[in-house]
Amino acid sequence: MAGNKKNRCSFCGRSENEVAMLLTGLNGFICDECARQAEMIVRESLGTKVTPKKGGEMELDVATLPKPQDIKAFLDQYVIGQDSAKRYLSVAVYNHYKRLAQKVDDDGVEIEKSNIIMVGPTGTGKTLLARTIAKQLNVPFTIVDATIFTEAGYVGEDVESILTRLLQVADYDVAATERGIVFIDEIDKIARKQDNPSITRDVSGEGVQQGLLKLLEGSIVNVPPKGGRKHPDQDYIHVDTRNILFICGGAFDGIERKIAQRLNTHVVGYDSVQNQQKIDTKDLMKYIVPQDLKSFGLIPEIIGRLPVLTYLDQLDRDALRNILTEPKNSLVKQQVKLFRMDGIKLSFDDDALDFIVDKAVEYKLGARGLRSIMETIMIEAQYSAPSGKEKQLVITRQYAEQQIEKNERMKK
Ligand code: ADP
Repeated sequence: MAGNKKNRCSFCGRSENEVAMLLTGLNGFICDECARQAEMIVRESLGTKVTPKKGGEMELDVATLPKPQDIKAFLDQYVIGQDSAKRYLSVAVYNHYKRLAQKVDDDGVEIEKSNIIMVGPTGTGKTLLARTIAKQLNVPFTIVDATIFTEAGYVGEDVESILTRLLQVADYDVAATERGIVFIDEIDKIARKQDNPSITRDVSGEGVQQGLLKLLEGSIVNVPPKGGRKHPDQDYIHVDTRNILFICGGAFDGIERKIAQRLNTHVVGYDSVQNQQKIDTKDLMKYIVPQDLKSFGLIPEIIGRLPVLTYLDQLDRDALRNILTEPKNSLVKQQVKLFRMDGIKLSFDDDALDFIVDKAVEYKLGARGLRSIMETIMIEAQYSAPSGKEKQLVITRQYAEQQIEKNERMKK
């Protein structure tokens, strides 16, 4: 570089007019790209020593916050039914904001957080609700699956890694992390497995619940910045969980039996027959109380820290039919858009949609099944239509049946 009067990056050698920016040091220069790369290298190699940022206090004006009804209206655009869960969630999120905005010293009253637990069969929209609400939030939000946790000593992650994820989402801004929201899915999978004959195989269970309890209760937790298992050499970031809102979800398979048992034991006595008639046996879930979670294997302390209990309904035919067409990004709307991008006008006959619902019910896959059935029906058209001349495509019931039959034959 001798003889070249132009300033050059001391790392990549590019001259000042080859780069966007050249920073000057005492004995050399660094260009914007090398600076960025250097930052990445530093982050990666010193990842365990990520310096927590000091986030500014969040200014929240309650008057401008979305109200529970606004939040629910937003959820309605994406999630069909599940009114009870939507209401509970909307209120919980609104209260979460209020709690963050409160000034405690005013009157000595401190609004405590109310973590939530949503119980409902798989595929009824628990995760969808959580994801949808995340779109509307302006606090860090993460979804974790409880099945990744195991007790210390087993392969798996420590519960503290929940906070690692939240930290990462908040770009290591500790103050922002401390007002975040965490959705813990499959919470039922860490229930004590009393019915399990092999107690020694219960590697999750109570120990994980105890760990989780610490987070739910609100305490200062040492969080490994890179997640995984705790390691003596790591520097921890201290996160206060007092204001983090936890939303838990679980299928609690078979919990209806527990509810039924409880309801039956309650209705002993001379008026039992009358009482039993009042119970809607088709929809036992709506009678769920915290005690039922206990008989399912959640420890009472955890239940106590999840004071808001709500449920999701099993999706019936009408709900499945609506899911196909109504949500803002429904399966039908997605297909129509895919074809529109090829200049093809796609539509579905009503009885073709009914057929898709029939199949979903037959396969017992609920809403989850709708997608794969739709894909099976559409694959052929998706393959050939873009190269064809037809600018219009109507999916009839007959066509849908043919495609499904073809697929079923292939699998035999
Ligand atoms: P869960 O968490 O209860 O097991 P999910 O939320 O993961 O169920 O649902 C699986 C898929 O089924 C979602 O991605 C969505 O496409 C569809 N789905 C389930 N429930 C609903 C609902 N109530 N409204 C709209 N779509 C739904």
